[in-house]
Amino acid sequence: MALIKCKECGKDISDQATTCPNCGAKTETANKKQEQNTYLIFAIISMIVTVIAFFINPYGLLSIIAIIFSIVCIVKIKQNLAIKICCIIFMLINIFNIYFIFASMYK
Ligand SMILES: [Zn+2]
Repeated sequence: MALIKCKECGKDISDQATTCPNCGAKTETANKKQEQNTYLIFAIISMIVTVIAFFINPYGLLSIIAIIFSIVCIVKIKQNLAIKICCIIFMLINIFNIYFIFASMYK
């Protein structure tokens, strides 16, 4: 645990704190956590869309949407390796899905 300076009031605060105890301003940690949560939601959306596309509604468009969400997660999620790996796996499933759609179209 380290001390960082609050960007609002300049006081030393814990880098684990999400708000400054002195002025109540949101810290970088809070912003980062919020950002990570946003991409976690992206990851969940990509997984749900993948499952729908793969099992229920195998159209190319849904797979493309899932790939976009997966790529955003892979690029943006820095700390959470498990989610990153999940996103890569789901992205590959979607790429295969699109491949099979095109393969069946041009038979
Ligand atoms: Zn402050």
